[in-house]
Amino acid sequence: MATFASLPLRGALPPDLGVQNHTSPAAATATPSFKPTFASLPLSVQTWAVQMVVFHAVGLLFELMDRLHLFPSTKVRRTRKSQYTHLLPTVLRNQILLLLPSMYACELAGLAFVGGSLHPLRFLANLPLMALGHEIVQYCGHRYLLHAPSVWLMQLLRHSVHHSTRASSAISACYMSAVDFFIEIVCPYLLPLAAVGGGGGGAAFHFLVAGAGAVGGLYEHSGYDFATLFRPAFENVGEKPLSPAEKEAAYKQIEEEERGPIRKFVTAWLADFLDNRAHLEHHTRGYVSFSDGFGSPGILDTLLRTRWDLSERRRADVEREWARQRQ
Ligand SMILES: [Zn+2]
Ligand SMILES: [Zn+2]
Repeated sequence: MATFASLPLRGALPPDLGVQNHTSPAAATATPSFKPTFASLPLSVQTWAVQMVVFHAVGLLFELMDRLHLFPSTKVRRTRKSQYTHLLPTVLRNQILLLLPSMYACELAGLAFVGGSLHPLRFLANLPLMALGHEIVQYCGHRYLLHAPSVWLMQLLRHSVHHSTRASSAISACYMSAVDFFIEIVCPYLLPLAAVGGGGGGAAFHFLVAGAGAVGGLYEHSGYDFATLFRPAFENVGEKPLSPAEKEAAYKQIEEEERGPIRKFVTAWLADFLDNRAHLEHHTRGYVSFSDGFGSPGILDTLLRTRWDLSERRRADVEREWARQRQ
């Protein structure tokens, strides 16, 4: 693995380096000292560092919420005791020994993190393209490799390590075997990044993508579903399913109780945006929702009919399972 000492430094050297000092012979013979700063590190390393800070700060926040039993009505999946210290060593191994070298290798190969800053329009266009590319790579690897019905592949890739966490602790987002981490985390991040041209050499785009990815992964594995605060109660997991007629009457009543179109729109948008059920369902049933549950367009799950709530039969199964787990 490359060490920081061997990494090429970004930016111009200080202007006094290499300039002979004519007024002081002693100074002229002294070895110039250059202290590397954060900004002088390769952009891939800076991005990785930012992602680590975001991931572990937000991960600790979720852990604190677990330990202090905050927002109990939104914690839809629990474990009897904290998994944090058990998960952390594997998470750090994956992030340090796999993610960091892969990102740096992309920069060295000129595939990403190089060039000038992105034009604002390119910056904006790259974000949905990255989301779509991420979904395609993740869906294919996750469904057709990690969940392939092949015993030898299952033994080789050991996706069961990740599923053993049941998505009830935020940092379990990166708790997986090394090869699983490469398929589920490294490739869906770096392949689309290279495909959209590498994201340029400006820090803002990379920090945003890496930081948002970290928060999304943590949330969808946290066992919290903040959408429960905005969703009609009968739509929440664990509630007794209503018949279609009862549902229609309940929606009508809600509509009548709404105080205005803006509130109605905001509530519906938040319930949709924060909906965290897809990946939680995937951890319960391996045959649904192979895309990321949060922040993913979910296009392939919809097109290929693997979305968790797409079929009534699937949904009925899932709702029965949720009700059983919450007893
Ligand atoms: Zn997961
Ligand atoms: Zn899986």
